[in-house]
Amino acid sequence: MPSRPPGLYAKPKSKPWERQSAASAQRIRGRRGQQIRAAHLAGEPLCRECLKHGRVTEAVIVDHALSLAEGGEDVPDNRQSLCKACSDAKTAQEAARGRRRAQRPA
Ligand SMILES: [Zn+2]
Repeated sequence: MPSRPPGLYAKPKSKPWERQSAASAQRIRGRRGQQIRAAHLAGEPLCRECLKHGRVTEAVIVDHALSLAEGGEDVPDNRQSLCKACSDAKTAQEAARGRRRAQRPA
């Protein structure tokens, strides 16, 4: 029998798609995440941000009101439905805040 590198047959603790980065450790992924997303959009089908401005827009994204990177949790109270445009705008703002955090001296 040729020797094989150790660990080749060792069962990985998690599958690659189940591994989570530190920044998104709390995000619910996979089939369960998809079910949660679909259920949320069914319950809140309109973009929350657009509604604030008197617009009625179909939501396509389940967003975290307080982003996970900023300490938000992947829980129902922190989820909101957004359209693509509002999600993109919010993501850009969060990225800008993230850059400012990174630039701030420790
Ligand atoms: Zn919107």
